[in-house]
Amino acid sequence: MNIILFGPPGSGKGTQAINICESLKVPHLSTGDMLREAVTSGSDVGKKAKEIMENGGLVSDEIVLSIVKERIALEDCVNGFVLDGFPRTINQAIGLDSLLEKNQKIEYVLRIKVDEESIIKRLIDRGRSDDKPEIIKNRFKSYNSLTQPLIPFYENREILFNINGMQDIEKVFDDIKKVIGI
Ligand code: ADP
Repeated sequence: MNIILFGPPGSGKGTQAINICESLKVPHLSTGDMLREAVTSGSDVGKKAKEIMENGGLVSDEIVLSIVKERIALEDCVNGFVLDGFPRTINQAIGLDSLLEKNQKIEYVLRIKVDEESIIKRLIDRGRSDDKPEIIKNRFKSYNSLTQPLIPFYENREILFNINGMQDIEKVFDDIKKVIGI
């Protein structure tokens, strides 16, 4: 099963991705994690991504698509995967379509809906280096202008499912399981 987890910063995508991946025994493909690893390793990609991430902007589609392309081609993705934090722009979604083989398709786009005001507190409590109030504002700006347009994009394909993210972690996961039928 190929799944996209979709939602604003702090919506709990990462946590739910881990839950789904454990149940389905498929890999968790988080572009945020991959980019943070690249920054830590000091690779060329990491050097290009570092400042953008620190400011809460979006890393270029070209860079993100190239890391996803490499990752998705690995053996462990043959039985499915969960994409977390990707695609984040229409361009990335179109790029993803062309990365998928003919026999592969995205079955579910799970949109975790949360209330913006209350997740700002969640993010500040998490305390990652890009979780400072000014930067959080930029991440929401990026989300609202570049990532939101993916909602109608996937709605039109009838694969977008809304999940109420303002509940306990277990309850959110229960709702996800109902949608994907596990
Ligand atoms: P969150 O979901 O809390 O925003 P992520 O770990 O998904 O956190 O992403 C952290 C940062 O990594 C983003 O703010 C962005 O700069 C960068 N990033 C992650 N995924 C992408 C992507 N698909 N396209 C562009 N930039 C990305």
